[in-house]
Amino acid sequence: MKNENRMNKKIDVIIVGTGVAGLYTALNLGKDKNILMITKDKSDASDSFLAQGGICVLKNDNDYQSFFEDTMKAGHYENNKKSVDLMIRTSPEIIQHLIQLGVEFENRDGELIYTKEGAHSKARIVYHKDLTGKEITSKLLAEVKKKENIKILEYTMMVDLLCYDNQCKGVVTSNNQKNIESYEADYVVLASGGLGGLFDHSTNLKHITGDALAISMKNNITIKNISYIQIHPTTLFSKKTGRHFLISESVRGEGAILLNKEKKRFVDELLPRDLVTKAIYKEMEEDHQEFVWLSLESLSEEIIKKRFPNIYLRCLEEGYDITKECIPVVPAQHYLMGGIQVDLNGETSMNHLYAVGEISCNGVHGANRLASNSLLESLVFSKRAANDIINKYESSLAFELKINYNDFMNLEELRKKYKKIILDEIKRSVSIEKSYKKA
Ligand SMILES: Cc1cc2nc3c(=O)[nH]c(=O)nc-3n(C[C@H](O)[C@H](O)[C@H](O)COP(=O)(O)OP(=O)(O)OC[C@H]3O[C@@H](n4cnc5c(N)ncnc54)[C@H](O)[C@@H]3O)c2cc1C
Repeated sequence: MKNENRMNKKIDVIIVGTGVAGLYTALNLGKDKNILMITKDKSDASDSFLAQGGICVLKNDNDYQSFFEDTMKAGHYENNKKSVDLMIRTSPEIIQHLIQLGVEFENRDGELIYTKEGAHSKARIVYHKDLTGKEITSKLLAEVKKKENIKILEYTMMVDLLCYDNQCKGVVTSNNQKNIESYEADYVVLASGGLGGLFDHSTNLKHITGDALAISMKNNITIKNISYIQIHPTTLFSKKTGRHFLISESVRGEGAILLNKEKKRFVDELLPRDLVTKAIYKEMEEDHQEFVWLSLESLSEEIIKKRFPNIYLRCLEEGYDITKECIPVVPAQHYLMGGIQVDLNGETSMNHLYAVGEISCNGVHGANRLASNSLLESLVFSKRAANDIINKYESSLAFELKINYNDFMNLEELRKKYKKIILDEIKRSVSIEKSYKKA
């Protein structure tokens, strides 16, 4: 491993992560900022690419009240009402902007078609087959690649932040040649996604491991509710190790049902995710089974192939033809509702440091996220963060900061250390929650 001990040229804004949140921040920062985006893997290897179901939108003013209530109810009313209000009211302009950027949503003669998922009282989700995340994120990435002021460094992991006197001054990175480097910047935006990679059973990509949470804790940046972790009720059961393949909630939204060992229905499939998950675990325990069944019998072969082509093909690869038979499904870790605490503009407790997307917590999801609210939340609040940076822009003064590069030389050790910091904090906050509930 090489120790470059090198401070690179100063950058205006560094964005950590190339998922929807990072890309949309970059696009909204405008042409005159010199922007560096870094990502641990390839630029298209993000959970944003995996999103299947869709993205929520306020269809018309008549839906405001029920959209608000559905989001609050799913979140056990622990949501920040201001965040929810902002997300819902901003959603039409975000969807319009995506369409302008070339994103194609299912439509009939230009009129958007809406679908429904669990805990939604009305159909208000726009989608692109079962590949909505890929459609949105690939178009944003293509747009970013056209901009001369934005540079993307792939296979470059943030291993620490440069901080001085509660001000963020840049990042320390390790790349795939294992060079340790530091980049100074006026502002840093953390858009590094969730933490599913820390779990054995997760729908998330393996390299999405919540590093920014450990780095924040290490640098005394406030985090919030990191034990608020969503388990998705339906991932394809497999004995193979690795990422669990998600069976989108929109499959249930379109009429698929859950069955137990006796092939009997045992739950209302469109309850909020946490309640459906609880019912599945109960059934699995009582029946001594490793999974329950999902039946798509009520959907025609034509609809399945047209609406869920990706799920259909992936299940075929695993040996299941969903047009003809039930598939075994099991809950798995899916989403982090908590994260780095931010205000409505994505500002963290550290000056010049912002967090957006799944790694941030502005309280919009409360204790449990409503399906298809996370792509929307990422886009709404990353645009706000970009605008806030533009409005407040202040160059950082030059500084002299000693970095101990040896701290980052053994990446495996560092990964283990960061994982431990996060899992210990989750355990700690779970035990605090339990004692609150007892009191
Ligand atoms: C299978 C699946 C299906 C989903 N379906 C939906 C859906 O239908 N609708 C919906 O609204 N939401 C859905 N979600 C959730 C949604 O996709 C994510 O919450 C959202 O895309 C998060 O975007 P993000 O930009 O915050 O993070 P991500 O898209 O996860 O991107 C994180 C980025 O950070 C980089 N990174 C991480 N750590 C580091 C580091 N230390 N250094 C450098 N780079 C780093 C990663 O390489 C990546 O580029 C789904 C999620 C999954 C996993």
